[in-house]
Amino acid sequence: MSEKSQQEYLEDILHLAENLTSPPKVQGEIPKQWLPEWLRLILKLSYLPVLLLDLFAQKVARYIIQPPFKQVGSCKRRGNCCYFILIPQPSGTLGKIFYFWQTQVNGFFLRSLSPQDEKGKKMLVMGCRHLNEDGSCNSYKTRPSVCRRWPVIEYFGAPRVLKGCGFSPVLKKKYDKEPYISLLSKSKEEGL
Ligand code: SF4
Repeated sequence: MSEKSQQEYLEDILHLAENLTSPPKVQGEIPKQWLPEWLRLILKLSYLPVLLLDLFAQKVARYIIQPPFKQVGSCKRRGNCCYFILIPQPSGTLGKIFYFWQTQVNGFFLRSLSPQDEKGKKMLVMGCRHLNEDGSCNSYKTRPSVCRRWPVIEYFGAPRVLKGCGFSPVLKKKYDKEPYISLLSKSKEEGL
């Protein structure tokens, strides 16, 4: 796929994620997870304290050094942000472990076989086995870090919030100037 068609593909799935009212159909069958469920749960629970500690540390860092935007609103529980999850294309041994964890432990599966170029990074487009038809998550308490960090309020870039999700970014008063005003309108017009 050319870079342009990859960009178009990513824009298409972004619009689908914003507008669909139920999870997009999967082409073919979702591959079975060969790791037994009890082992997946043990691995998730063992990693959970590290994940929560990391999120807490990030929260403290954000409290000390505050980003120019904040998010307001609340989750509408539509599930649309779970339709297409982008993860970095794995490479090397660590990449293989990362991919194993994402697919076997976290429950993601490949939606598109070819990696997509997102802002210069090769990304895989995944779906999630834990997403119910009604948009709820059947693994909410042990959901992975990528789900807990969403929506993303960047320090330097435009906030990444899926349109229609119930959250929206607002600019803090002291940053009511350029380039933050442009970043905010870019986020609102273009979405992610
Ligand atoms: S684990 Fe839950 S929150 Fe995360 S993508 Fe899957 S359904 Fe959504």
